[in-house]
Amino acid sequence: SGILNGDTVVQWIERAAEVIGENEKTLTELDAAIGDSDHGANMARGFSAVRGKLAEHSRDDVGAILKTVGMTLLSTVGGASGPLYGTLFLEAAKVTAGKPEIDRATILQSLAAGLAGIQKRGKAEPLDKTLVDALGPAIRAFEGAEGVSLAEALSQAAEAARQGAEATIPLVARKGRASYLGERSAGHQDPGATSMWLLLQSLAEAAAE
Ligand code: ADP
Ligand code: MG
Ligand code: MG
Repeated sequence: SGILNGDTVVQWIERAAEVIGENEKTLTELDAAIGDSDHGANMARGFSAVRGKLAEHSRDDVGAILKTVGMTLLSTVGGASGPLYGTLFLEAAKVTAGKPEIDRATILQSLAAGLAGIQKRGKAEPLDKTLVDALGPAIRAFEGAEGVSLAEALSQAAEAARQGAEATIPLVARKGRASYLGERSAGHQDPGATSMWLLLQSLAEAAAE
């Protein structure tokens, strides 16, 4: 169908918690190369807390679900990524407040508001080697995916996020801890862009069910 309801949104986050748990070691290894080796643990801790919070959560208001996700990530992930992922969900929660289900236009608006919030907070521009480099291309792909189902459009968005994360490899980091390395940050994939890809891949999978 062309909409997402509260059940699907919860399934998305549960899947994300699973996938991030499975990839915790990979995310930590990426952060070991250009950061402080905690991105896997940060994200796994946050999404495991979120999963607990959603288990008994009502499903009739997408905005309320996303708000719980954002608040929980904000208070449990820590580091640079916690406030940024928190902002993504809290901005999306504002767009979806009171809505039992969300259509494609609202999903686009939510993602765009999330990206704007992340950039306002973290000041990262495209190609600064951050999670913006996965989310930005994903949003453009989602917006450009015409004449396909919602699930397919989200799958194209996730693929763009994957490519965006991979394209951070040659970049020199200009934000966050990795920027302290200067030129030595080149040659490694950004951990946050990678977790953002996993999050969007989980969304595409939940929408396809
Ligand atoms: P920390 O760097 O504090 O240990 P994490 O390891 O959890 O936090 O997260 C690191 C990730 O956060 C980076 O890989 C990058 O994608 C993202 N990041 C860091 N600073 C910014 C920023 N200013 N804007 C956007 N993303 C950022
Ligand atoms: Mg780190
Ligand atoms: Mg840290």
